Amino acid sequence: MCGIVAYIGHRQAYPVIIKGLKRLEYRGYDSAGVALLNHGLKLYKKKGKVAALEEITVGKDLDGHIGIGHTRWATHGEPSDRNAHPHQSSNGKLAMIHNGIIENYAALKSELIKKGYVFHSDTDTEVLLNFIEDIQKNNGGTLEEALRIALKRVVGAYVVVLIDKDNPDTLIAARKGSPLVIGIGKNEHFLASDASPIIEYTKEVVYVNDYQIAIIKSDELILKNLGNERQTPFIQKLDLELAAIEKGGYDHFMLKEIFEQPDTIRDCLRGRLDVQQCTITMAGIQNNIEQIKNANRILIVACGTSWHAGLIAEYIIEELCRIPVEVEYASEFRYRNPIIHKGDMIIAISQSGETADTLVAIEKAKEQGAVILGIVNVVGSSISRISHAGAYTHAGPEIGVASTKAFTAQLTVLAMVALKIAKERETISHDRYLHLLEELNDLPEKVSHILARAEHIKNVALKYKDVINALYLGRGYNFPVALEGALKLKEISYIHAEGYPAAEMKHGPIALVDESLPVIFVATKDAYHEKIVSNIQEIKARKGKVIAVITEGDETITGMADDILPVPEADEVIAPVISVIPLQLFSYYIGIAKGYDVDKPRNLAKSVTVE
Ligand code: GLU
Repeated sequence: MCGIVAYIGHRQAYPVIIKGLKRLEYRGYDSAGVALLNHGLKLYKKKGKVAALEEITVGKDLDGHIGIGHTRWATHGEPSDRNAHPHQSSNGKLAMIHNGIIENYAALKSELIKKGYVFHSDTDTEVLLNFIEDIQKNNGGTLEEALRIALKRVVGAYVVVLIDKDNPDTLIAARKGSPLVIGIGKNEHFLASDASPIIEYTKEVVYVNDYQIAIIKSDELILKNLGNERQTPFIQKLDLELAAIEKGGYDHFMLKEIFEQPDTIRDCLRGRLDVQQCTITMAGIQNNIEQIKNANRILIVACGTSWHAGLIAEYIIEELCRIPVEVEYASEFRYRNPIIHKGDMIIAISQSGETADTLVAIEKAKEQGAVILGIVNVVGSSISRISHAGAYTHAGPEIGVASTKAFTAQLTVLAMVALKIAKERETISHDRYLHLLEELNDLPEKVSHILARAEHIKNVALKYKDVINALYLGRGYNFPVALEGALKLKEISYIHAEGYPAAEMKHGPIALVDESLPVIFVATKDAYHEKIVSNIQEIKARKGKVIAVITEGDETITGMADDILPVPEADEVIAPVISVIPLQLFSYYIGIAKGYDVDKPRNLAKSVTVE
């Protein structure tokens, strides 16, 4: 959600910024802009893609060694040229980009209007910028001081980066709640919302913390807190290769990421799972094992696809560890004044590790004494840093907005965490434990086996590409998979789809069933198999079209369904990792057939850094 790129150094800033904004395109946005400093301030901004911004800059003065660039995901004011960032302050001296929301912007705006300020956009960003200008005008101090004072009055979340005509050798940035990484080069600095625009220049990075201000020159990086005290930048080495963020011969990132899953699951298991030794090694869990294994209750907080992973984890943990689990939408949890007892553990799941709602939810729970276990993909992200314990999913950068490989990696990690806790608590027999380790070990191969049959899934998908609605049903471990399948279809193909527990359909959705409604059953062989067979009969009796994800060789359902998507046999605890794969491909092929931009579906953002 929203991309920020800024540069200061010996290179031309414009190409670095444009390339960086393109690398951040996957995050989702609606307009783009850039401001450059060089004997004056130049601003170019445009609704639409970065390519549209490039078009309007053809033949323009793009010279400058310091600049800021932005892709906007509108929160205040429609996507338009005038609402695009960067914004310019009233006196024309400052330009600023912003990711996040200034919640008290209305109060600040009326204060400024009374003072005679005129606004040229509908954004909260322009309000903050003029507020900073006003403070500087009244106090007569530096921009840095004015920013500090302004931020103490601001309610909301932000990353801001400013340039100042009067100080053409300095970038000033600040962060609270939204992500900001600074890359340190030789006499140059790169700023971005994540590391992807930075890796081709340097691997040395600093993750800016909440309430820090960065004062950046070509050869100097100063970090301060809002109390004006200097803080030592913690320089980290990036463990990321350029190839990981490029398409590598696939038509779309989504397809590449679906096909990467045998590898990402393997990476996720590597160094952790040892079937021979019958062990799972997870240092981030082991170091806090006493607290974790003695948790009285586990609360899982997440959003979107990660929430579905949480629902599956609920089934796994309750069964294997016998600890009560509740799964919460982070956005509801944070505002509900939830009851948290000593001994509660929170598992926070987030691909980006920056999801605003999840981040705030765990900050609150942490204040109330809960132990926080973070399951995130992006190394060094905010959630990973504020968690007490955790495990990375090691899925590599996920660029496609609709999550695929991050989801299966989350499920793999959560299964390992559950097995580890179960072993410690002695709530699992040795045989079952060993069997599940073997099942985990076999996952990459089984996923490859499904991917090798992508053509069949494509053919089935094409039959249904023109439907208006779809219903996804599953039971037990496969119920959240039905939710995830429906979400993927909505995201990628804009077809209305609903996921439901198969037995619940009789309490409402069955009214929708007729010959035009495809019902996608996630019906692999498990403890509920006979029950779901009955549910399929109920749909067939009402002339619904049945597409079923089944275990290979399941003659019963093959004889009943209109189309089948077979997957290899797997233990029900592990089955969701397998049964979701055909549903990912099903959505992908329908989205493509309808001509949609599957990597950047409309209105969606990858890293949801506003609440
Ligand atoms: N709230 C700001 C706006 O609507 C920033 C949005 C963003 O994060 O892109 O312009």
